[in-house]
Amino acid sequence: MLNSESNIKFIKGVGEKRAEMFYNLGIFDVDSLIHFFPRKYEDWTKTKSVSESENGEGIAIRVTMITPVNEQMVRRGMTLYKCRFSDGESVINVTIFNNKYLAKSLRIYEDYVLFGKIEKNLTSASMSSPKIEKLDMGIHIHPIYPKTGKLTSNAIAKVIRTALENLGEIQETLNDEIRKKYNLISLDTAIRNIHFPENEDDILEARRRLIFEELLTLQLGLLKLKSSKKSETPLKITTDYTDDFISLLPFTLTNAQKRAIAECIKDMQGKYPMNRLLQGDVGSGKTAVGAGVIYTAVKNGYQTALMAPTEILALQHFESLSKMLAGQEITIRLLTGSTKPNEKREIKSDLINGKIDLLIGTHAIIQNDVEFKNLGLVITDEQHRFGVKQRASLVNKGSGIHTLVMSATPIPRTLGLILYGDLDISILDELPPGRQEIRTDVVDSRYHQRLYKFICDAADRGEQSYIICPMVEESDDMESVKSAEQLARELSQTAFKGFNLGLLHGKMKSKEKENVMKAFADGDVKILVATTVVEVGVDVPNATIMVIENAERFGLSQLHQLRGRIGRGSKKSYCVLVSDSKSEVSRSRLMTMKNYSDGFKIADEDLKQRGPGDFFGERQHGLPKLKIADMLENIDILHLAQDCAFDIIKEDYNLDSEKNKPLCNAVTKMFREIEY
Ligand code: ADP
Ligand code: MG
Repeated sequence: MLNSESNIKFIKGVGEKRAEMFYNLGIFDVDSLIHFFPRKYEDWTKTKSVSESENGEGIAIRVTMITPVNEQMVRRGMTLYKCRFSDGESVINVTIFNNKYLAKSLRIYEDYVLFGKIEKNLTSASMSSPKIEKLDMGIHIHPIYPKTGKLTSNAIAKVIRTALENLGEIQETLNDEIRKKYNLISLDTAIRNIHFPENEDDILEARRRLIFEELLTLQLGLLKLKSSKKSETPLKITTDYTDDFISLLPFTLTNAQKRAIAECIKDMQGKYPMNRLLQGDVGSGKTAVGAGVIYTAVKNGYQTALMAPTEILALQHFESLSKMLAGQEITIRLLTGSTKPNEKREIKSDLINGKIDLLIGTHAIIQNDVEFKNLGLVITDEQHRFGVKQRASLVNKGSGIHTLVMSATPIPRTLGLILYGDLDISILDELPPGRQEIRTDVVDSRYHQRLYKFICDAADRGEQSYIICPMVEESDDMESVKSAEQLARELSQTAFKGFNLGLLHGKMKSKEKENVMKAFADGDVKILVATTVVEVGVDVPNATIMVIENAERFGLSQLHQLRGRIGRGSKKSYCVLVSDSKSEVSRSRLMTMKNYSDGFKIADEDLKQRGPGDFFGERQHGLPKLKIADMLENIDILHLAQDCAFDIIKEDYNLDSEKNKPLCNAVTKMFREIEY
């Protein structure tokens, strides 16, 4: 008898050699073996006759063998075995290539089932290398496993069948309550049916159960990873001052912006501290939303903080918010790494005395020696640059503090539900009116000279350009990647001689980076050669051109983020994707950029084309790999699993009750390999 921890080499028929092949797939024990799911199925149960089928159709057909096998050696290493079958009405000519074992096993006048593509013409029907099984074995739905080196799907199926036959009842992970509520079959039935279903309903029910469990486990794990804020009593906001705020603005808020502000204020008046994510494409106007929320918080007597990932962004927020909130008796200060010591001292004492209403800065504002008198609201911008830990440490500046996270990373909604499972989400799905569409083109490197001329002409008109290169250093395996340094050097001596050229890359000291970015923002530098470090949202309305070299090396969402750096002013902007890649896939990905401007659409495309790994793959966001669930396709089940996860957590935060134990183990197992 096997149990789920038995090594697979103890399964009958699995020797050392075959076991080795399974090990290579990461399958060591019976449990991981039975969780190796079929990729698809071949349904042999709906047999057809020759006359019922169409030329070229893939079918299963019940037949009797009517001639012995005729062996023909075509050439060395190629033997054909030919024979005929009848379905009682028509004859089928079958050719088998090289498979001596199969050919020798066939017996005349025996009944078989053939599975394969049928070729028909006026006078005859044939099948070439069909799959063949004896009819007395029964007609089944056959599981097809992912191709895995030398292990054929059939071989895997056999091993799994043997394992299941020798395994007692598989231990249940979901308690009765959950299974009843969500109408889920038992794990034992699900596992057995996912491999060897009798009909399509078996597959559907098994999949539903297994997908639910996987998504539930994932969501529970993520919820456990996040800090619980729901227990705190929120700082009370009594009055909504949005109307006053609106009257300060030189523009009308979009409906999306109004909605987002209202959602935030409703949160702040609610039972728990606000814990919200504001997602909005580049340029959608997240700052104004943040300002609106800050305004109401300050007017209710609280201090507020706005944290940005870089000094230059912090400075930009400082400037735009100072303008937006001017004349309102709201004291705003900027605190960054380069704030002078005595100014810093003054800011700190003003904070503690409650003289500052809004503190804007970099992570310097979360340092321990920065204390507030009555911090009520913390906003972090461009959240993808902050770790979860940093987020948490700001919130530790007091109890019941409201938090708003602003992110420009257009994560598809479905994934946002996972990544930000503990946050409520507001989405700015509308750009302010009058935005210029950015023209995007895909060209190859033959266009460089023309591009450079285009950039020079723009510079002569006073407009600015970015040239983005993927990597900084030359490394052997990336020979074709231009180093930003080399490119900048070259261009400053050739095409852009006489223009003020800047260089920005990740290996520079942050002070240097800030300086270059500042010079570009001030218009002193006309052309900026940069790596993806410019991705984060600095506003340079005068920049109208972006050239992205080796564009095929970037993720679509990243390209979109980069492109968001231009088209921020009133002038027509151009994004040129340079790529010499001949690959179909690359071409079509780049065309996605040309055809779409909506970040969420692009993110969805990216997800379809490259899988969710790219959204979560970034070191700190690595999510466990899913075996059966697809977050896009199984969105309905994801919602149910999330409801279920929230219910469980509410009642049993640490999953340490007896009935949740198996689930708790499943969570531990799923997250074992993930480091946070
Ligand atoms: P992001 O969402 O990328 O952070 P910003 O907040 O920087 O966008 O806004 C981009 C630009 O749009 C800013 O110059 C801002 O003043 C302007 N803006 C924001 N909201 C509106 C609006 N409702 N109408 C017109 N312009 C707006
Ligand atoms: Mg922004």
